[in-house]
Amino acid sequence: MLGEGILKGLAETARNFFGSYVSKDRLTTVQYPEQRDPRIESARSFPFLVYDGADWHDGMRCVACQICEKECPPKCIYIEKSKDKKPDANGKPQFYPAIFDIDISVCMSCQICAEVCPFDAIKMDVDYNLSTDDRFGGLLLDKQRLSKSNQYYNAIHPTEAAAVDARLAAERVRQEAKAKATGQAKSTADAKLTATTQAQPEIGGPR
Ligand code: SF4
Ligand code: SF4
Repeated sequence: MLGEGILKGLAETARNFFGSYVSKDRLTTVQYPEQRDPRIESARSFPFLVYDGADWHDGMRCVACQICEKECPPKCIYIEKSKDKKPDANGKPQFYPAIFDIDISVCMSCQICAEVCPFDAIKMDVDYNLSTDDRFGGLLLDKQRLSKSNQYYNAIHPTEAAAVDARLAAERVRQEAKAKATGQAKSTADAKLTATTQAQPEIGGPR
């Protein structure tokens, strides 16, 4: 029937309107900004940089590989790689972004940056309330403003963050085992070399 969809929509609106006087479940609006709906786990707004530990700079996961910058469709990420290296949260020397800016006024929340990052260093936030009257600088976020702790990430996306933590822990164990095996192989090779050198007669000595 022509207009059936409109009538169904109006009936639902009427059901919620009159029902809201007798049932809280029918009250589908809140008095924003004083009241806010709790943010759901699958929500996403804009990207942020994850850091481990207590210090945003020391624990920054980003190694300035610039993949996200290349893949961002509206090109709103700007990165300059550091000239030196600093230890990451595991003590391994890594490059880091000397500059990492995102122009949030251009970002379209597509999440591509978070999906392509090989280091789980950039994730999607759920904070949407970023409006400002500073039109030119207020929405250009630098690395310090973009940085948020892994605890924060776990609080807003617990399922996803737990999977990332488990993957990174497994990777750490694998790296440690590899380093240990390499160390053992080197010690064995050194011991063999020393034994061989000692077994050889001295050049120019008695025959
Ligand atoms: S969410 Fe999309 S548009 Fe926004 S910074 Fe990431 S890749 Fe760029
Ligand atoms: S956020 Fe990830 S993809 Fe982007 S530069 Fe840093 S490490 Fe590379």
